Amino acid sequence: MIGVLALQGGYERHGKVLEKLGVAYRYVKLPHQLEGLDGLIMPGGESTTMLKLANTFSLMEPLRACIQTGLPVFATCAGSILLCDTVLHPSQQSLGVLPATIERNAYGSQRESFYAEIDVEPWGLEQVGVYFIRAPRFVAHEPQVQVLCRFNQDIIGVQWRHITAVTFHPELADHTVMHRAWLHQQALV
Ligand code: GLN
Repeated sequence: MIGVLALQGGYERHGKVLEKLGVAYRYVKLPHQLEGLDGLIMPGGESTTMLKLANTFSLMEPLRACIQTGLPVFATCAGSILLCDTVLHPSQQSLGVLPATIERNAYGSQRESFYAEIDVEPWGLEQVGVYFIRAPRFVAHEPQVQVLCRFNQDIIGVQWRHITAVTFHPELADHTVMHRAWLHQQALV
């Protein structure tokens, strides 16, 4: 059973992708909904709002505990902002479970949103269509963190142990390759 964090943002599109892949999932808003999950998707949206709601629903500590004890996570955009131990531009609280620094809204107002085709070499994926929406970028990481993909020079995807975090939205493009690759990589299917 895969959980999809459903506090705010683009969680329904992730649910649709999992449906297409025939993978059972449930939305997670409250702490008890974390029980018995095999993996968790953290969608994009507005990280500040997600933080507020996570605090309101007392979800921060149980979520942190699940991830720290090995729950495989696939985070996109704002979800990745919630994971990183350091958040810049502006800074804010986070779960602090991924040893990396992320800069929010890294592409300014002129390139707030755009489509690109990216390669995820460690996963053998080429020209995957994805959307960047007021996207962040990773600006520093511990040496053990693996870079999964770049856009120009920017690091836009990382993997550390059971945590996968990207700055873009694969779920908005009309394909399932990225989710399928994550599920296989974490031996969830
Ligand atoms: N800019 C948003 C934030 O800082 C993230 C945007 C997104 O998730 N698409 O939370």
